[in-house]
Amino acid sequence: MEPGEALRVLEAARAGGLEAIAAAGTLEELEAAKVAVLGRKAPFTEVQRSLGSFGEDDRRRIGRVANEVRGALQAALEERRAELARIEEERLLRADAVDVTLPGRRPRSGSLHPLTIVERDIVEIFTRMGYRVAEGPEVEDDWHNFEALNIPPDHPARTMKDSLYIDVDGLLLRTETSAVQIRTLESQPPPVYVVAPGRTYRREAVDATHLSVFHQVEGLAVDEGLSFADMKGTLEAFARAMFGERRRVRLNPDYFPFVEPGAQVAVSCFVCDGAGCATCGNGWIELLGAGMVHPRVLENCGVDSERYTGFAFGMGIERVAMVRYGVSDMRLFVEGDVRFLEQFQGAA
Ligand SMILES: [Zn+2]
Repeated sequence: MEPGEALRVLEAARAGGLEAIAAAGTLEELEAAKVAVLGRKAPFTEVQRSLGSFGEDDRRRIGRVANEVRGALQAALEERRAELARIEEERLLRADAVDVTLPGRRPRSGSLHPLTIVERDIVEIFTRMGYRVAEGPEVEDDWHNFEALNIPPDHPARTMKDSLYIDVDGLLLRTETSAVQIRTLESQPPPVYVVAPGRTYRREAVDATHLSVFHQVEGLAVDEGLSFADMKGTLEAFARAMFGERRRVRLNPDYFPFVEPGAQVAVSCFVCDGAGCATCGNGWIELLGAGMVHPRVLENCGVDSERYTGFAFGMGIERVAMVRYGVSDMRLFVEGDVRFLEQFQGAA
């Protein structure tokens, strides 16, 4: 290569290189431009490689120009690289930007299960009256579930309730929360005022009004001088708190082994106010069973039945929820259908 040609190649490399660098629109394009102007096969590099073939003066002159050209190209590369990085960052920021003018998406919120709402309400009404919450195991023994409740082995009540027995002798899934009455009386002396909400189990064919796993709230009051009138007044206060101030209760004689006398308690219908409608039929809604605690039950728990009297009541939470919300099929409570459950959002 002639020295004159080498100088022309260098100037062309400078001009063409600066142009290519300025034209690079991305960091990738810039990298390609760098290879083209300063890479192993670039004309600029060829000139450098041939410097040794020139005489000393030419070599010095051409070498100086080559250094200038490389410096100019490297400076231009750096400048363009910084510029492209800034542009890229701005692009990313714009892509990530939140558009505050878009309408919001409302998150779906959960809600309490209707049975939970009803259970909490029942419990709250009684705790306001001074009752405390008692609990017992769902797997019970024969004593607490039957015998202590005045239901001896040959009693027809045992066949009336189709119990679910465990593979351990004498154990079963409790058929009612009444077992908690016994556990409470065994563990503390009167006065006793408790409500016991919980799950109960029976071998039932499941239909619109029966479940094999259901919920009850049991109530027990044992004190000196408690009478049938106290029971009626308590249940009336409950019915009013639950279903409205104008409710009345009606008691019809009924039989449960662990109370004497026993009663079926009905509440005047809160839909028709007792006139009769589709919800109630005859103006009354049967809500729960109740009665004065049988003296033998008190004695079974070591409570002096001469000194203390008491009353007990039990109600099905599903039943109360059906009445309250106008639900005609009990199975809806356990099927987990969101379309059913979300209707209770905000209910209380
Ligand atoms: Zn009615």
